[in-house]
Amino acid sequence: MTTEPQKQGMHLSERLSRSCPVCGASPEHAREFLAEQIDPTRLNTFSFASRKEPEFLNYHMVQCATCDLVYVDQPPSQEALADAYHVADYDSAEEAVDAATSYLREMQSLMARLHQGAALEIGTGTGILLDGLKAAGFASVAGVEPSASAVAAAPPYRRAWIREGIFHEKDFEPESFDLVCCFMTMEHVRDPLDIAQSVLRLLRPGGAFVTVTHDYRSIVNRALGRRSPIIDVEHMQLFSPRSITELYTRAGYTDVHAKAFANRYALSYWTRLLPIPAGMKRRLIKAQNATGLGQWRLAFNVGNTMVTGFRPTETAGSAR
Ligand SMILES: [Zn+2]
Repeated sequence: MTTEPQKQGMHLSERLSRSCPVCGASPEHAREFLAEQIDPTRLNTFSFASRKEPEFLNYHMVQCATCDLVYVDQPPSQEALADAYHVADYDSAEEAVDAATSYLREMQSLMARLHQGAALEIGTGTGILLDGLKAAGFASVAGVEPSASAVAAAPPYRRAWIREGIFHEKDFEPESFDLVCCFMTMEHVRDPLDIAQSVLRLLRPGGAFVTVTHDYRSIVNRALGRRSPIIDVEHMQLFSPRSITELYTRAGYTDVHAKAFANRYALSYWTRLLPIPAGMKRRLIKAQNATGLGQWRLAFNVGNTMVTGFRPTETAGSAR
């Protein structure tokens, strides 16, 4: 792929101030959460890939005193982010399969309760979850994915389900989905409230919106501090259970429920995320792979939250 990291870094350096993207409180009502650490020469297309070794680059972040959200107060423009994700290299690792398996397991009881007509995944990657939703009984599935290389890596039958680009409400019929999923993506978008509101309008009454987000208040993330993988240049905001619940409620969802969520991954993947020197990490992964230990699947709650909310069946004005 011929991409130009330098040029892209400059594009990403055009920054615009914003208020809290969940509750709208101005940045004066926020306290500093994290000082900026950006090296434009190190920002490259892989910085926006979904799974990679942590780089410990981040934009300046503040913590909203009103809704508890941590957010970048001067993010790059929506267009710059869309471009960055469009050309992002895709790490087509088996972790995506493990992640989808974890999500489906956690959604089992929800899916049994829903009408299994149509499902949509925002940020679908190669569409692995769509396979699982089909197998779970959904009649039709669709996905949206901005990374061209991720879509290209999808098998042809799944590619037919995937719309390449940034999620736009107008690309879909109102009230046409029973389930919309958005996993590990709400941190990456410029306007998460706008997405939650758009999804509400795309859901049939009684349909569900499910997200998985990092929890910056979790013990693991607090212990790691700025060595946590959640501290990342890709993340335009970081949620806590309180702020993600607030987002759902403000968008008009009912029966909003948040729960801690354990991901099940291979040991080699967990090792890749460890805050230890790169050389030590490589030797550890090599040893694990040589012994087969690296393929062991382990479930850890690394501080993620799964939230479910429903479109009210009585559409008393809040939906539009
Ligand atoms: Zn706020």
